[in-house]
Amino acid sequence: MKKGPIIIIGAGPAGLMAAQQLATDGHQVHLYEKNKAAARKFLVAGHGGFNLTHSEAIDTFVEKYDTHEIRNIVRAFDNGHTVKWLLSIGIPTYIGSSGKIFPAKNIKPIQVLQAWLTHLAKLGVHIHYEHTLLDFDTHTVTLSHDNTVVNKSYHKLILALGGGSWAKTGSDAGWVPMLIDKKIHITPLQASNSGYNTVDDFIDLEGQVLKNIQLSFKDTKKLGEIVFTKYGVEGSPLYYLNRFTRTQDFPLYLFIDLKPSMAVEAIIKQLQATGNISWLLKNSLKLSTTAIALLKRLDRQTFLSPKSLARSIKNYPIQVCALRPIDEVISTAGGVAFTSLNTDLALHQFPNVYCVGEMIDWEAPTGGYLLQACFSTGMWVAKAISRKV
Ligand SMILES: Cc1cc2nc3c(=O)[nH]c(=O)nc-3n(C[C@H](O)[C@H](O)[C@H](O)COP(=O)(O)OP(=O)(O)OC[C@H]3O[C@@H](n4cnc5c(N)ncnc54)[C@H](O)[C@@H]3O)c2cc1C
Repeated sequence: MKKGPIIIIGAGPAGLMAAQQLATDGHQVHLYEKNKAAARKFLVAGHGGFNLTHSEAIDTFVEKYDTHEIRNIVRAFDNGHTVKWLLSIGIPTYIGSSGKIFPAKNIKPIQVLQAWLTHLAKLGVHIHYEHTLLDFDTHTVTLSHDNTVVNKSYHKLILALGGGSWAKTGSDAGWVPMLIDKKIHITPLQASNSGYNTVDDFIDLEGQVLKNIQLSFKDTKKLGEIVFTKYGVEGSPLYYLNRFTRTQDFPLYLFIDLKPSMAVEAIIKQLQATGNISWLLKNSLKLSTTAIALLKRLDRQTFLSPKSLARSIKNYPIQVCALRPIDEVISTAGGVAFTSLNTDLALHQFPNVYCVGEMIDWEAPTGGYLLQACFSTGMWVAKAISRKV
């Protein structure tokens, strides 16, 4: 057994991955988690499709992240490594039609977690539930457990405390004031992978999906599908635009191209054919009933003019007034700034304290990229520690 102990706080995917690698490398690992169970947000991510990573080539994969630091870390433990690791704990995967990587059919998220926890137990990782981190200094962590305050000495400490959405899973960003008090630079947490509230009410279209559209904001464009909700719009192209719109003044316009595969001139030609406009939209342009319902909201003059209607099909404006409340969104941008961390992800002020996962200031779209970066940062820090100890 090597010099120890190594304490990890937070049993989400980033903390579990760090624990796994450190235990594999022969360290004594104690993981403290405030909930009664591990990885509640990891399980929430499994509702409606558990995409653990994505199959795209690593060069385009890493472009999904916003900073070069996180891109380097993801390259070092990438999607291919994730698939091999999952197989090593008994979880085969498959690539879905969208390129996302899921556990093999019939394997539920809880089974993935159980396989991982069983593997960690075999490696000798001690997980202590219902322990909440209150504070730390250069050698000791202070935790509360059962209404008692306990102090534990550490050799190395890893903070894996998560982002600030879905507080009910335990990721309540309670660590932010603690780290600010220690003069660590924290970029304010903000909604990421968030839908938008719209100025216009789309209640009549609630639940309806616009497929194969392209969404744009200024020069940034993203293909995908969006769904109307009682407050506005949700969907992956919107999530992609979050980081470009966040710094702007709301309200602002996003534009939907309802027929990205066709140029405006070709659409005009189709609309100039004889026949009722709604019939042409449906049968010649093959637009969905949702797209047609959206176009019917245009003023009559625009709807009846092939040129104006074609321009609206290519550039339908949606005015958005806000991102969704932070607690509802899939992830948060912001967190511990890379400028507060060295290349091993240790805090400059506390060289034996490391940060991993979503609590670091990086962002990426949902679709496996978030979990991948959590796995990668956990692995990165574990390997950095093992090189030293
Ligand atoms: C609805 C939803 C869907 C998602 N879908 C996807 C998806 O499809 N693909 C994808 O890649 N990602 C998805 N994600 C995101 C992904 O789940 C998170 O990015 C990931 O779980 C973050 O991992 P983490 O280890 O950094 O933190 P977390 O998973 O948030 O874990 C942090 C842990 O730290 C514990 N903790 C916090 N404070 C303390 C304290 N003071 N003391 C002790 N313990 C503490 C928490 O209880 C928690 O268990 C989704 C998230 C949500 C909410």
